[in-house]
Amino acid sequence: MHEVSHDAKPEMKILVVEDDRSVSNLITTTLRINHYAYITASTGKEAVTLCASHRPDLILLDLGLPDIDGIEVIRTIRTWSSAVIIIISARGEDSDKILALDSGADDYLTKPFSIEELLARIRAAQRRMQYIAGQPQESPVFTNGSLSIDFASHRVEVNGKEIHLTAIEYKLLTLLAQNAGKVLTHSYIIDHIWGGGVETDIVSLRVYMTSLRKKCRAASPGFDQIETHIGIGYQLLRENTGDGSLL
Ligand code: CA
Repeated sequence: MHEVSHDAKPEMKILVVEDDRSVSNLITTTLRINHYAYITASTGKEAVTLCASHRPDLILLDLGLPDIDGIEVIRTIRTWSSAVIIIISARGEDSDKILALDSGADDYLTKPFSIEELLARIRAAQRRMQYIAGQPQESPVFTNGSLSIDFASHRVEVNGKEIHLTAIEYKLLTLLAQNAGKVLTHSYIIDHIWGGGVETDIVSLRVYMTSLRKKCRAASPGFDQIETHIGIGYQLLRENTGDGSLL
């Protein structure tokens, strides 16, 4: 375990799970240069053991491991850990990403990946962690950049202007907000908004999302917090507020 330097960066423990030595070295060198504390595992079983003993805040997980599959690792860890899990895998098929996200991963990167992108995902995870930690138990207002949602009154503002949403649009936005920084798959969203077994398809979901975005952009033309992951789902990107604080 490398200790965090006295840098301003809040303490965060990262578990790197990767059996390919060169990729593992690339990741750990990047983490070290950027003053992140980390531990490494090269098998799935080792990952589960280290996760239990070291309680990492963030896990960078390869899916193709020599013993148990990364998907199994996610499912096992998710029974007791709320660590942020970012997949770093060569499996680039939508179905692989969806399976990983639906199993409990938070985000994914496809190999080969850029170092800058990896660092950006880690920072996003860090903001999400800080936000959750700093959130009072019953904080009724969610703020993210120009977006604010008052859960008590169902009032949504973008750029200080109130926007009027339909019940479904409001539910979609709050689901994304409650999972800010996470990629939510189409099936996850449909299950949570309409419940299982309802005949709502991805095409309808896209229509609701388009309408939701249009309303946000009417209040703030540059609004781009809702990211589409084509073939996979949607993600509300975490943004800092203007003064650099998270709320
Ligand atoms: Ca591998």
